[in-house]
Formats: sequence, C-alpha cells, structure tokens
Amino acid sequence: MNIASSKSCGECTLCCKVMAIETLAKPAGSRCTHCRSGQGCLIYAERPAECRDYGCLWLVDDRLGPHWKPSKSSLVLTTSEDGIEIRCDPGFPDAWRKEPYRSQIQQWATAGETHDVTVLVVIGERMVLVTAEQEFDLGIVRPDQRIVRELEGTRVVGAALVEAPELE
Ligand code: SF4
Ligand code: SF4
Repeated sequence: MNIASSKSCGECTLCCKVMAIETLAKPAGSRCTHCRSGQGCLIYAERPAECRDYGCLWLVDDRLGPHWKPSKSSLVLTTSEDGIEIRCDPGFPDAWRKEPYRSQIQQWATAGETHDVTVLVVIGERMVLVTAEQEFDLGIVRPDQRIVRELEGTRVVGAALVEAPELE
C-alpha cells in the first residue's frame, strides 16, 4: 500500500488481502476488489485514507529481515493499541507456525508478557492469543467483541471474548 524507509512493497500486496478496509466495506482476509496481481492497486491515486496511511511493520522496522517481507512470509505485522498483531494470509493459515517465525513470535510473547504487551495472530476473522506459556485459540472474533485476559500478576492464565458494550 505504501513505501517507507529503505524497503519497498515491490510485488507485495498482502495487506490488501489481510486488512479490513472499513471505507470499502472490505472484510479482513479477502482480497480487495481493486487489487490486481502484478499491477497492485487499480485506484492508487484515489485509494482511501486508510490505505494511504497504512504501512506494515516490516516496511519501517529495520530489525525485520528480508524473510519477514509479507510476500515471502505470508505474514503482515502491525501494531495495535495493546501490542503486536501478526496477520496471516488465510490461504496459508499455518504460515505463522513455520520457523523462524514461530520462535520469533514466541520471543515477542514472552518478552511482552512482563510489559503487558499482547501478541495476537489473526487469520481472517479467527484470532489466537499467544502468551509466554500458552496459545489461546479464540475462534472467530467479531468486530463488536473484545478479548479480555485473566492475569495472575503479569502471567496470562486465561482469555475470553466479551461483547464490547459489557465493558462500558
Ligand atoms: S504488506 Fe507491507 S510490504 Fe506488503 S504491500 Fe502492504 S505495506 Fe507493502
Ligand atoms: S483500495 Fe487499493 S490500496 Fe486499498 S486495499 Fe484496495 S487495492 Fe489495496
């Protein structure tokens, strides 16, 4: 969607598949109808602000090597209010379990737990919370649902979905 730092999107268009674009009513996990393989965005000059403003973590973080390029890894890294999201191409739902990705994801989860940083794998509408000790497969998470963690100190010992209005 964008170009930043010394890296560039090149042939990659994976964010145009894995990200939800509210303006276009495009759900997460299905390729945008404006995206063409080998051509990129067909409405690039008029693309929504959500697309203009977006750049995945791989583009801007030099610590993420070439193997993390989304077109190679099938994984798009983004930050959230709570931590890191690893958005997996639904066509390759186990891509995040391959090495070296799974070990790196575990390192982030282990380091993050002591700082209240969450590590969430998103596969289409399905989400898996990865913690230092466990994986919590939350299944399909609707946009109006929120993930609530049960903590013992900084240790995550449980995770559940609640309707967003219940939190208000
Ligand atoms: S996923 Fe990242 S590298 Fe790929 S097109 Fe989107 S912003 Fe560019
Ligand atoms: S409008 Fe263009 S940049 Fe935005 S998701 Fe669709 S193809 Fe990608």
